Amino acid sequence: MNRVRAAASQLAGLVPYDPKYLPAEALLSANENPRDVDDEVRELIAAAIARVPFNRYPDPLANDLRDLIAEANGLDRSCVLVGNGGDELLFNLALAWGGPGRTCLNFPPTFSVYAANARLTNTAVVDIARRDDFSIDEEAAFARLAEGDIDYVIVASPNNPTGLRAPADFLERLLDATDALVMVDEAYFEFSRQTVRPLLATHENLVILRTFSKAFSLAGVRLGYILANPGVIAEFQKVRQPYSVDAVSQAIGEVVYRHRARFEPGIREIIEERARVMEALRATAGVRPFPSDSNWILLRMDDAGAAWDYLYAGGVLVRDFSATPLLENCLRVTIGTPVQNDLFISLLRAFVAERGERRARAARA
Ligand code: PMP
Repeated sequence: MNRVRAAASQLAGLVPYDPKYLPAEALLSANENPRDVDDEVRELIAAAIARVPFNRYPDPLANDLRDLIAEANGLDRSCVLVGNGGDELLFNLALAWGGPGRTCLNFPPTFSVYAANARLTNTAVVDIARRDDFSIDEEAAFARLAEGDIDYVIVASPNNPTGLRAPADFLERLLDATDALVMVDEAYFEFSRQTVRPLLATHENLVILRTFSKAFSLAGVRLGYILANPGVIAEFQKVRQPYSVDAVSQAIGEVVYRHRARFEPGIREIIEERARVMEALRATAGVRPFPSDSNWILLRMDDAGAAWDYLYAGGVLVRDFSATPLLENCLRVTIGTPVQNDLFISLLRAFVAERGERRARAARA
């Protein structure tokens, strides 16, 4: 067999993104909406797809969907760009504002895709580790920005996987302090009810990322969008794949976005369930849940790996972050339906109780 030369050097040692998805009765590992789109919306989607000409290329810029999003946000179409999931737009950010000789500022622990995209594009990453409570070390961030070499910054608000949003006054001071492009990743903003969108009017260096994958139950469809000033959108347009958002996804996105008010009760339920699960976790000995503005809760406990196994054996898939730096012994549980949340809580409590009994027996022996 003829040999192949090595792939690009920045790929050496790189591990492909792995969502660690496994079949389970309760899928609480990927921060998805536990409820699918309802039957009426599904019928409207089916009718819309029936009208899609499959033999024709889609509108490269998804302009109809773009207009809907622009109108809802009080913006012009030129301030919106739709992508194949937020993930594509995150990659486009690294292509457009990163590259050899360029640098991004990152606040780990955070969404791992940010650092991976930087590496793929040969962008240098400056990490400013979050404090023990996962808040951003603001003084360190401003001091580093003052050196003047940062080309882009990403702040997830709320931050995945830790849970809380970034303080609004910090984001505004950050935007004021730099001419770097600042992406505020609002993939979960429907659960925090907070956005920096008003700052678009005064800050050319702001880009906001949103997604249809969470509040709008469309993780399987792959739709995300950015809001920014037209000059920023124009740069993103230069690097994007022309037809990355297919015609079927555009049709689905338009129906769902027009009917987005129907997702509101589901969002409210998730927010209420988050409070209930938080209370139950706080009342569970040896479990430390971190506060959350999103649709999941990060928790720390001894034997997190064994707890993951126990939960999975009981039918609940959560995400194990215990091997991630700064997240030792941490699990992340997505807020599911009340039934799924009850199953999770009862299994976790059973694990803690059984472990307590085992420890007591070992102490007596
Ligand atoms: N940002 C954050 C913080 C996320 O957690 C995710 C999804 N895991 C995304 C962006 C991208 O989501 P999607 O590609 O599904 O739109």
